[in-house]
Amino acid sequence: METASRFAVGLTGGIGCGKTTVADLFAARGAAVIDTDQIAHGLTAPHGAAMPALIAEFGPDYATPDGALDRAKMRALVFSAPSARARLEGILHPRIRAATAAAALLADGPYTIFVVPLLIESGTWRERVGRVLAIDCSEATQVARVMARNGLTEDQVRAIMAAQVTRARRLEEADDVILNDAGIDALLPQVERLHRFYLDEAARLTVPPSQRL
Ligand code: ATP
Repeated sequence: METASRFAVGLTGGIGCGKTTVADLFAARGAAVIDTDQIAHGLTAPHGAAMPALIAEFGPDYATPDGALDRAKMRALVFSAPSARARLEGILHPRIRAATAAAALLADGPYTIFVVPLLIESGTWRERVGRVLAIDCSEATQVARVMARNGLTEDQVRAIMAAQVTRARRLEEADDVILNDAGIDALLPQVERLHRFYLDEAARLTVPPSQRL
């Protein structure tokens, strides 16, 4: 018997390009959306599933009084001691993978969209999804949006962008691209077109091999 496989899309993009905004539009059309950033945040939220291991590794000083990860302190440690990043990722990454897989098993809807900010950087996602969708905008737009949303300076936003792959590299890796430099109205036809394409791909996957073209 053929194993049922679900068509999946990996949605990525640089900080502030509009991943969440676009993912919400796909979700509104029925796609199952799994946001790996939200999963990661949940693991380090107050009494999140990764907190006992993080406290054991880094000490109770790295937890806030309500039992969440002290992000500012961890960020400072990771910047000053690169080996701390590997220790942090060693705890978080397997748990993110397991929680993502569990969420994928429960997902309904015709296909799944995994929102993965560092999809290109992290390497293992490519072979786990049928298509890579990049949300693209100019660097100037990214800077303006993140400054407005997070109250950061231009230098702070550019430092985060410098730690991500370049726009050109992301576009090179993408199968599909949504341009998000204009308003929300400009997103709708692009989302509609790709949603129809992904529905077709998902339907094609469920057709028995003997009936495939
Ligand atoms: P991050 O990488 O930080 O998680 P993201 O890629 O998920 O960000 P969003 O959170 O969707 O990006 O968008 C960043 C900000 O820009 C938000 O405040 C959002 O409301 C705004 N934004 C996104 N797209 C548009 C658009 N087309 N028009 C106006 N504002 C937008």
